[in-house]
Amino acid sequence: MSTITNGAPVSTPIVPERRARLTDEPVAGSKRVLLAAPRGYCAGVDRAVIAVEKAIEQYGAPVYVRKQIVHNIHVVTELEKRGAIFVDEVEEVPPGSHIVFSAHGVSPAVVQGAADRGLAAIDATCPLVTKVHREAVRFSKQDYRILLIGHAGHEEVEGTMGHAPERTILIGSPEEADTVEVPDADELIWLSQTTLSVDETMETVRRLRERFPHLQDPPSDDICYATQNRQVAIKKVAPECDLVIVVGSANSSNSVRLVEVALEYGARAAYRVDYASEIRQEWLDGVATVGVTSGASVPEVLVQQVLADLSDAGYGEVEEITTAEEDLLFSLPKELRVDKSGKRDDRALGGRTRA
Ligand code: SF4
Repeated sequence: MSTITNGAPVSTPIVPERRARLTDEPVAGSKRVLLAAPRGYCAGVDRAVIAVEKAIEQYGAPVYVRKQIVHNIHVVTELEKRGAIFVDEVEEVPPGSHIVFSAHGVSPAVVQGAADRGLAAIDATCPLVTKVHREAVRFSKQDYRILLIGHAGHEEVEGTMGHAPERTILIGSPEEADTVEVPDADELIWLSQTTLSVDETMETVRRLRERFPHLQDPPSDDICYATQNRQVAIKKVAPECDLVIVVGSANSSNSVRLVEVALEYGARAAYRVDYASEIRQEWLDGVATVGVTSGASVPEVLVQQVLADLSDAGYGEVEEITTAEEDLLFSLPKELRVDKSGKRDDRALGGRTRA
């Protein structure tokens, strides 16, 4: 077995750092939690996680998964216990096995590599990532140069670039927009990774357009609804918070962005944790209001553990601040909609089905 993309072996048991139970220290004013909503599982994550579970149920363990199915160490560890084996590349998978492609998507070369190896592939790419892939293909065929705003090395970016490798230039930050060299600046369009900061991406586009006035916008938002909604919610909550706690893994782009957005919008401090046990007593010194949110790959149970620990520390009053309702639903990957006996599984999968 290989290593996962954040460099840590997936088989390593997760042992959260131990700390003493949080204590209820007095602060000026009354203690409370502002709980951001929407938070946690999006429809694409829900679908991808259920796809792995269903594949194991349907084909038996092990089922191989290329890269982390979603960027959350808890989810990955739980799926490992059920019989998933996470690998970096299809070459590590025994011929004839089943392999699931993660929610972040893959390049056509990876799909071909799996086929060449005789693997039965199940594509759990989020449909909103597939939409960006299709845009990349379409605009490259029309001879556009594509400026892809995203983070180098992220699986989603590698997958998207792989759909138009000759025509795509990666822009990693607003600063890179000031210096990027574009061979032919006439037919130019920008696309983006789905999980970026909306504000930072717009700043990158602004700077690009200063240099390339003909730059065209994508036909619709590439930053997905879940990323945008979680950022809007934390923007509303952050100005009132002495501390914001974001539940999510270090390699989860949208979770890391939530920490940055919380700080930009006025939270005095903001930290990301995988587990409640990572909250440090000193973070709560003098803190009256704690904001809590979670990234799009985080099961709600992990947020509830944070709330329980905060309650021990006197933050038992919880007010949920809701800025949007989410009702997007996806169906299972097509390879899993009909089982061996011909029985259909047409359930609708949304972020709330996995609370
Ligand atoms: S964060 Fe957005 S793009 Fe990623 S899986 Fe969720 S809905 Fe899809």
